Amino acid sequence: MSLEVSKCDSCEEVLAPPRLKCPECRKEMRMEEVSGVGEIVTHTTVHVVPEGFSAPIMVGLVRLDAGGQVLARSDFELETGMRVDVEELEDGTHRILRID
Ligand SMILES: [Zn+2]
Repeated sequence: MSLEVSKCDSCEEVLAPPRLKCPECRKEMRMEEVSGVGEIVTHTTVHVVPEGFSAPIMVGLVRLDAGGQVLARSDFELETGMRVDVEELEDGTHRILRID
């Protein structure tokens, strides 16, 4: 899936969800659509969840092949190093998808 990220030309920071200003050097960031494909860096299972969610929720940090990292939730068990895809949902959060 494609994701909107912001890139900083000055320090090469990549952020998803995108931000207007770079948190590192305060410069304006450039918006770019990149592939959501990447690798699980770390993951956890959340047992105490906000209202409206059903526990447990699996959450993973995905290092995108395009650069940058995205925190996303998952409907399936995650493993470190697993290759996944990430989709952006309408509420601006991200969900991890399997790659077959
Ligand atoms: Zn920067």
